[in-house]
Amino acid sequence: MVNINVKDICFSYSSTKILENVSVDFDSSSFVSIVGPNGAGKSTLLKCMNKILVPNSGDIHLDECNLQKMERMEVARNLAYVPQNSKRVFPTTVFETVLMGRRPHLGWFNSKNDTEKVWQVLEEMGLEDLALRNFDELSGGQQQKILIARALAQDTGVILLDEPTSDLDIWHQLDVMENVKKLVKKRNVTALMVVHDLNLASKYSDRILMLKDGKIVAAGDPSSVMTID
Ligand code: ADP
Ligand code: ADP
Repeated sequence: MVNINVKDICFSYSSTKILENVSVDFDSSSFVSIVGPNGAGKSTLLKCMNKILVPNSGDIHLDECNLQKMERMEVARNLAYVPQNSKRVFPTTVFETVLMGRRPHLGWFNSKNDTEKVWQVLEEMGLEDLALRNFDELSGGQQQKILIARALAQDTGVILLDEPTSDLDIWHQLDVMENVKKLVKKRNVTALMVVHDLNLASKYSDRILMLKDGKIVAAGDPSSVMTID
């Protein structure tokens, strides 16, 4: 259970302002969709929250901890991240790929507890039949699900997902959203998901944050955000 407080952050690439005075609180155990036009700054906001990028000004707190003072592994024990276009090559099995999510907790050695957690997540997502297949041989949709499983195996209070359903057909999109929603509630995690499709955002999330030109232009429950002009 983690509350996140983003206060007045600004971020620029050289002289181009990408995020301007973004302030927002994310309560624990909520499923928030981040929507907005391409280039609005959605990915940049997630990257700042995961300390991949450092804001030029402003602060981000996870509960009482200032993100900028946390070491990389400490960040990884608190926040899991599913990057956009994660067409990565993992020259290993699905099981080993998901097991990598446990690394921030233990260094290089796995315990029985870790392998059990991996099986549990694979089962919860209906992926156990793929466990011994090679990651690289699977379809894009299967790979995206496995990267979500890896983030869940990381066992963090917060999970950041950058358009995790972008490569999927509508049936698989619904399947992934259902799964994420179910697991968010079951594990009490805070999920922040950049979503392209407004229908998916309003159907599944508790709250929607709309960004435009690096600013928050609307925030609230789906019905209130979707009725503004
Ligand atoms: P969104 O996720 O809302 O589509 P992004 O956060 O990815 O938007 O990008 C916001 C803006 O920042 C875009 O105009 C994009 O081109 C620009 N941008 C993203 N990454 C870089 C970079 N590495 N260098 C310069 N500009 C970038
Ligand atoms: P991702 O979110 O997939 O990691 P990036 O943040 O690198 O991707 O890029 C997001 C968007 O910003 C893309 O549309 C990309 O074309 C654009 N972009 C990336 N690097 C630059 C850059 N150096 N200058 C301008 N735009 C960029």
